[in-house]
Amino acid sequence: MNASLDIQPLSSWINTDGKPLVIAGPCSAETEEQVLETAAQIKEEGFAHVLRAGVWKPRTRPGSFEGMGEAALPWLQAAKKETGLPLAIEVANPQHVELALKYGVDILWIGARTTVNPFNVQELADALKGVDVPVLVKNPVNPDLQLWIGALERLNQAGVKKLGAIHRGFSNAQETKFRNSPMWQIAIELKTLFPQLPVIGDPSHMAGKRAYLFEVAQRALDLNYEGLIIESHRDPDKAWSDASQQLTPAALGEMLHELHVRRKEY
Ligand code: PEP
Ligand code: MN
Repeated sequence: MNASLDIQPLSSWINTDGKPLVIAGPCSAETEEQVLETAAQIKEEGFAHVLRAGVWKPRTRPGSFEGMGEAALPWLQAAKKETGLPLAIEVANPQHVELALKYGVDILWIGARTTVNPFNVQELADALKGVDVPVLVKNPVNPDLQLWIGALERLNQAGVKKLGAIHRGFSNAQETKFRNSPMWQIAIELKTLFPQLPVIGDPSHMAGKRAYLFEVAQRALDLNYEGLIIESHRDPDKAWSDASQQLTPAALGEMLHELHVRRKEY
C-alpha cells in the first residue's frame, strides 16, 4: 500500500543544536521529591533536551505500581519550571490527553500496549484534532510494522504533524538477551518508507538491563536515529518500575559521552 505522512521536521519543534534529541527521566513519577531531585540532576548533567516520566503506567500484570496519575502532574510542572526542560509523558486515552495539556505537558507519547489497538489510537487521534502538540508513537508490542504505520497514519490524518516514532523493541516468546528484541530491520523499513519521520531509539525498554544499554543506544545512533529516550532515576535500584534498566543521571551522562554520533562525539 502506498503511504505518505505529512510531517514537520523535528527541528521545527525542538532545538537540539543539530545533536540527537535526548529525552531522559524516570520510568515513573513516584514522589514529588523523586521527580524534582531526578530532574535537577538531569539538568545539572546538561545532556537532556526533554524530561520524561510515566504518570499512568500500563502494566502487563495487575498488582504492580500503576502510576500516580493526575497527582503527579503538578510535580512535573514544578520540575519543568525549575529546570526549564519541556515535559514528555505517556497518554493512553482522551482523558490523559486533556489532563496532560491542562498541566502544560509539551510532548505526548503513545505506549507500546496502546499502539496495538486501532480503536484506542483513533480515540487519541480524535482527542488531538486541532491540538498542536508533538506526539511520539512507540512501536506496538508485537512485531507488526503495519500496526505501527497505521497508528502514525491515524494521528497524521487527525492533523498531528509534529509526529515521530519510538523504537522500543518487540515482545519475545522465549527468554532472550534483551527484554524486547530490537528487530532493527522493522525500524529500518519504517525509516525507508518515511524518510522524513523522526525515529527515536528507546534502549531502556529494548535492553531491560543497564549492562546492555550502551550497545543498543550506539546501534540506534549508527542507524542515524534522530534521538534517544532513556530512563534515568536518582536511585535506580529503588525505582518502583523498571529498576534494572534505569541509570542515575550521572551514569547516563557518562554513557552519552561515550557514544559516537555520526562519527562525531557529543
Ligand atoms: C515506558 O516508557 O515506561 C513504557 C511503559 O514503555 P513501553 O510502552 O515501551 O512499554
Ligand atoms: Mn519503563
